[in-house]
Amino acid sequence: MKVQQRVVHHGAHQGVTGSCHEFFFAPNESVLIDCGQFQGSDELTFASERSRTQAIEFPIEQLVGLVITHCHLDHVGRLPNLWAKGFRKPIYCTRATASLLPIVLSDAMKVANFPDPDKVLAGIQQLLEPIPYEEWFDVHQHWRMRFRNAGHIMGSAYVEFEHRQLAPGQTLPTRVVFSGDLGCKHTPLLPDPTPLEYADYLILESTYGDSVHEHREDRQTRLKATINKAFADGGTVLIPAFSIGRTQELLYEIEDIIHHEPSWKQVTVILDSPLATQYTQQYRRLKRLWDEEAKERLADNRHPLNFDRLHIVESHQQHLDIIELLRTKHYPAIVIAASGMCTGGRIVNYLKALIEQEITDIIFVGYQAEGTPGRDILTYGPRGGYVDLDGQRYTIKASVYQLGGYSAHADQPGLLEFLDTQIKPVHHVRLVHGELPAKMALQEAIIASQKITGNVVI
Ligand SMILES: [Zn+2]
Ligand SMILES: [Zn+2]
Repeated sequence: MKVQQRVVHHGAHQGVTGSCHEFFFAPNESVLIDCGQFQGSDELTFASERSRTQAIEFPIEQLVGLVITHCHLDHVGRLPNLWAKGFRKPIYCTRATASLLPIVLSDAMKVANFPDPDKVLAGIQQLLEPIPYEEWFDVHQHWRMRFRNAGHIMGSAYVEFEHRQLAPGQTLPTRVVFSGDLGCKHTPLLPDPTPLEYADYLILESTYGDSVHEHREDRQTRLKATINKAFADGGTVLIPAFSIGRTQELLYEIEDIIHHEPSWKQVTVILDSPLATQYTQQYRRLKRLWDEEAKERLADNRHPLNFDRLHIVESHQQHLDIIELLRTKHYPAIVIAASGMCTGGRIVNYLKALIEQEITDIIFVGYQAEGTPGRDILTYGPRGGYVDLDGQRYTIKASVYQLGGYSAHADQPGLLEFLDTQIKPVHHVRLVHGELPAKMALQEAIIASQKITGNVVI
């Protein structure tokens, strides 16, 4: 069985969501790498019938386990469906992923109205086998595996499978590597992705395979400048953000500005998102995995994710009270709330109460997909247009800003850098987790770079 034939894709091949790849150790023995949900436009364009139901439509009897690279929904969202189909094999992941996974899954099941969520979650948790980074683990008679830090979100990993025996003429054992989602360098809190040693066959994500991220280094400076401008008229600053990753990065940067900037000492930061709060608590607990800079701040007696000026909204009543206070008293504050594209969550109530006030400022730090209220605010806000929220029309009088530099994915130079291996060059590459133009651009760039000895297929 050639390595190329050993990998079958059940999602995130012709698109970016629904990550699910099957790696065959033998014709009747395989392991699944991720089991993600189809989301957004992928629901319509790729395997539409299957994705609408999120059903598992491949045989599972041959599976000896499931490996999870990280706990974003597009990598773990179909796990309840897999369990419901009868999957009872070990689920391998890093320890941090194991601690974040229950929060992700219980929320996802609630949103999807998944039957019997408590039982499913307990069942899944029983199967979890947390493995520390960098430790080889025997996953099959002939193969072992290891997680290495991917620098994408807390707990994220790329996974290496290594054959335990050398074939005749081989000096190094065969390695098959799945990149999962690769992060950027210099992400707050997270260490940079660990460089790759080698891979005979690399399954590589390509989300931003056709782009170069700009403005990453100075993003905190621009965040500060934008918020200063917003505060000039004394109104509220609203930042819609995704619960996991981005919210914690923002808190980390805001704490640093408050620490260094005397004029910010009285700024109130409101985190109003029950899910984001749970993740933030986990991020705090996982401080052994923080990068050096974040650990130094701790040693300095600072609390990057739990500082004095941070106010965490707990109950729904508190949420309503704060909105009323901000609406009537024009109290300057920074509010971080989900969802990141304003499609739901508590941010919607803030927008409804404040978007028609000129002293309000809305700062977007993430991509706004077509058809979302976030995209409408971004497009029509600067022209004094309107947005529909919960079926009602609101004129956008608030100022609207977009800040770049907050992507959690490596760009094309970052992906090419991952191919700068330490032991020997990568042989074959297969691109997944990307739209076609991104894959094609990355394929071309990889060929031009001459970094690999075999082919790159899309
Ligand atoms: Zn991800
Ligand atoms: Zn992903």
